Amino acid sequence: YFITFEGGEGAGKTSILQLTANRLRKDGYDVITTREPGGIEIAEKIRSIILDPAHTAMDGRTEALLYAAARRQHLVEKVLPALSSGKLVLCDRFIDSSLTYQGYARELGMDEVYQMNQFAIENCMPDLTLFFDIQPEEGLKRILANKSREQNRLDLEKLNFHKKVYEGYQLLMDKFSKRIFQIDATPSIKEVELATYNRIKTFINS
Ligand code: C5P
Ligand code: MG
Repeated sequence: YFITFEGGEGAGKTSILQLTANRLRKDGYDVITTREPGGIEIAEKIRSIILDPAHTAMDGRTEALLYAAARRQHLVEKVLPALSSGKLVLCDRFIDSSLTYQGYARELGMDEVYQMNQFAIENCMPDLTLFFDIQPEEGLKRILANKSREQNRLDLEKLNFHKKVYEGYQLLMDKFSKRIFQIDATPSIKEVELATYNRIKTFINS
């Protein structure tokens, strides 16, 4: 199965993903973890272009196209082969990030960004998506407190941008209510990890 982790900044996606993968491995699942944009060399290079704090001139459509290019390469080079060999793929972000960040928050249009991404993904959508729910104010507080986090261009966006990202995710949860499940990201990391693990197990066993 292809399982994606989504949410705004500071929701804890990256840490929870690793912890959940380890727990699933103890149960005997063959799990790979990866991230977007990135996960493989070509896509990590595209990531560094997109997120470079010096690239303040980057146009919104250019940004959306680069995410889609990175997504395409990551999908064909890493995700699809892993799925074919029966692995469980846990991926930090996927198309929903583009729909809300570029489509909604940058106002390129969710439908337009969805259509453009179809060229890249050819209908390969996640089987399950977990939305890590935290208010943007709280999420931003967490990333400011976390000194070890790599600074990126998006961290410089104002609170209003992150509020729009949050709104965009709410729209996606309505639109894709069979695929996307909300996980409350405000409790302790242990509790969030357990909720995540339980949700994935429920899905696998359904
Ligand atoms: O989740 P992660 O911190 O790795 O994401 C890197 C940055 O890229 C984040 O600041 C996120 O907001 C941004 N991003 C974006 N549009 C996407 C995917 C990620 O703006 N489609
Ligand atoms: Mg992260």
